[in-house]
Amino acid sequence: TSDSRRRSSVFFGGGGPVFLEDHDTPETTPSIVDGIEGCIGNTPLIRIKSLSEATGCDILAKAEFLNGAGMSPKDRVALNMIQKAEEQGLLVPGRGDTIYEGTVGSTGISLATLAKARGYHAHICMPSDQSSEKVDLLHHLGATVERVTPAPIVDPNHYVNIARRRAAEHNASSETPSRGFFADQFESEANYEAHMLTTGPEIYAQTGGKIDAFVAGAGTGGTLSGVTRYLKVEKQLTNLRAVLADPYGSGGYNRIRSGVMYSPTEKEGTRRRSQVDSIVEGIGINRVTLNWKAGEKFVDDAVRVTDEQACRMARWLVQHDGIFVGSSSAVNCVAAVVTALGMPRGSVVVTVLCDPGMRHLSKFYKRVKDLGLEENEEEESKHVVVADKNNE
Ligand code: PMP
Repeated sequence: TSDSRRRSSVFFGGGGPVFLEDHDTPETTPSIVDGIEGCIGNTPLIRIKSLSEATGCDILAKAEFLNGAGMSPKDRVALNMIQKAEEQGLLVPGRGDTIYEGTVGSTGISLATLAKARGYHAHICMPSDQSSEKVDLLHHLGATVERVTPAPIVDPNHYVNIARRRAAEHNASSETPSRGFFADQFESEANYEAHMLTTGPEIYAQTGGKIDAFVAGAGTGGTLSGVTRYLKVEKQLTNLRAVLADPYGSGGYNRIRSGVMYSPTEKEGTRRRSQVDSIVEGIGINRVTLNWKAGEKFVDDAVRVTDEQACRMARWLVQHDGIFVGSSSAVNCVAAVVTALGMPRGSVVVTVLCDPGMRHLSKFYKRVKDLGLEENEEEESKHVVVADKNNE
């Protein structure tokens, strides 16, 4: 009976919390996992009710913010990059090795977490315009953080070039046997491979292969390329519509539409920008990386999303669904809705919720607030006055 149920173990798996009897462990319960790495992958696919109702399609979002190490899809990538480097002897636990990476944050956070779990140091180079939460987090994770003035990729002081150089300097000068390893997420095959090995198969299994569109932004391109390749090539879902969700200011949209990668804010072919000109963090692309190239021929279309649309979607998700996620997730959801509206009713559209909203309070959610989208501010100030009066 329900009275006799002891809520000794709670599993928040697909379909909601399951309260278990003592010593009763169904197959679906991941009771003990081996370290924090055991919390990576197998994320739920959330049906977003409000967006599904609004579009007449199934809008399903892969809850990648539930990856338990760095709370983004980059956990999968970081783990695969580290494991491959260990297999090749480029990283050896206990040797005092350092992992170097150029990142806008998420990959750095995943690498810093896994570095601690496996006995390495992390040295993260990131552009100085990213949210302060990510920098604070990296410091708390014990990483060395080099904040770099935004510069074009051709500049030796672009954050990726600095990370590569730091690893080389480490190896040239180290007086100990320790080595520096440049993870190189933009150009590493281990990035999109991680999504071919895990994210793609999970989505296929969770939908039973009934999936009509996959929508994702591209930072390195790893997620979009890996998942799309798995579904279209390995699983032969040749009718699947793969769609790039692109923030305004990124060059990806033009690349898909016209074959040339340039953003609306620069002249065709100049490619002078370092970061993408948008408040959105983590996605937007302006050069053909290995990870972009791995999948671009399988991408059918692109949807361009403005910062204001992303802000409005972020608020919508909180207000209607209680889902509080970062800016790239909001861009993905806007593009998923646009994609769904162009498809027959009942289509299944899968997208990605990349990281938690808490990581974006100081920048993205400040913009949301500045746009006047947050309700209740007037209400709240009344409560403060009432509370003060009660205290008198
Ligand atoms: N969202 C966030 C928050 C990210 O940091 C990234 C990676 N930079 C992405 C999405 C995009 O992932 P990918 O690199 O696989 O294109």
